[in-house]
Amino acid sequence: MQTFNNTLKKLAKVKNLNYKLTSNEKDLDSLFKILSKPQRIIKVSLPFKKKDGKLQLIEGYRIQHNNFLGPYKGGIRFSKEVDEDEINTLSLLMTLKCSLVGLPLGGAKGGIKIDPKKLSSLELELLSREYVRKIYDFIGPDKDIPAPDINTNSQIMDWMIDEYLKLSGKNTKNKSHLLATFTGKSINRGGIEGREEATGKGGEIVLELLIKRLNFKKPLTVAIQGFGNVGYNLAKFLAIKNYKIIAISDSKGGIYSKDGLNPELVMECKKERGMISGCYCRGSVCDFKKGKEITNEELLRLNVDVLIPSALENVINLHNANKIRAKIILEMANNPITDEADEIINKRGGIIVPDILANSGGVIVSYLEMIQNINKEKWKKEKVFDRLFDYLNEAVDEVWQIHERYNINFRNSSLIVAIKNLLTKIR
Ligand code: GLU
Repeated sequence: MQTFNNTLKKLAKVKNLNYKLTSNEKDLDSLFKILSKPQRIIKVSLPFKKKDGKLQLIEGYRIQHNNFLGPYKGGIRFSKEVDEDEINTLSLLMTLKCSLVGLPLGGAKGGIKIDPKKLSSLELELLSREYVRKIYDFIGPDKDIPAPDINTNSQIMDWMIDEYLKLSGKNTKNKSHLLATFTGKSINRGGIEGREEATGKGGEIVLELLIKRLNFKKPLTVAIQGFGNVGYNLAKFLAIKNYKIIAISDSKGGIYSKDGLNPELVMECKKERGMISGCYCRGSVCDFKKGKEITNEELLRLNVDVLIPSALENVINLHNANKIRAKIILEMANNPITDEADEIINKRGGIIVPDILANSGGVIVSYLEMIQNINKEKWKKEKVFDRLFDYLNEAVDEVWQIHERYNINFRNSSLIVAIKNLLTKIR
């Protein structure tokens, strides 16, 4: 699937809406032309020795989409699915995401085409360092700031910043400033409190703000697809806020319980077994009555108040869009709904909270980490989450105003806000 072109299609729809909202059509045309191509594509080959001693060349990317609002920003993922089209699409989403939430940052994305689960810790480290050597010239606190994404974490960011600082030389005067070249680092390597949970926390804040405005009454039922860092942390935050999480899955399948699941117990079992499937009725998870195993596809089709795809792209598509019954879909994954599916769900009156709003908590706290590094400060988690709330509250407010005033869905209202902010830089 050509996801970049598909995402441009979503964007093209708001171009017509934007004509009504802006007086300067020429600028709008120029901006859309600029956004339709990334500014720079860095493609690298990473020499990598397998256990049998054979050399393999692994494909890596850093795509810098746009820097009108500030230095490029975005995660690095390790996955077998990585290709230019995917990274390109995600870099465009980063440009829009940073603009929507008012960060002085542009958009980029990186990726290495590998299944990290098949690598040892040492192999992962060597690959991470090699990647940094290849993209070194193009990154830095004022150029491009990578971060974690799918299958990457603070350990990988620590190796990367370590390699970056090594290459920058021992005599670097302003080391603290250079630390801001990577975000999502571990706390003792200059990371910020709360970054690990930030995307999940952001999802909770956005959902809470919107359901209040939409007059939804709790308890609301929730199904979560994907139980990595984002899905797990969000589940924990939602459980505290009186949402009933009735289904959770990972790539191998999931479990369902009408009475609600405890995310921490599910995580305990997942850690023990290596997957969620099979967790129903094992140990303490069995405390929940009336439960059963379900497939990922069954989870997506549950009649819940809130459906949360928080794993991969395009999981809601032409094949299942008609079967999706959730009232609200909170896009914690990037691009989980295809353009065609988006139309079908909108026609049925389903409410979609788009990725660029729902999962922006990660990059917002990444920005706070940069500020912390540059100012040589150490922030408490409470302060981090307060600032996160302020950013999201303002973004939701702007999106809501457009949604109400022009009767435009949340995806398009969010895109309009993002475009409006980018337009200010076009002259
Ligand atoms: N990978 C995250 C995202 O897609 C975070 C990016 C960042 O912190 O730069 O938004």
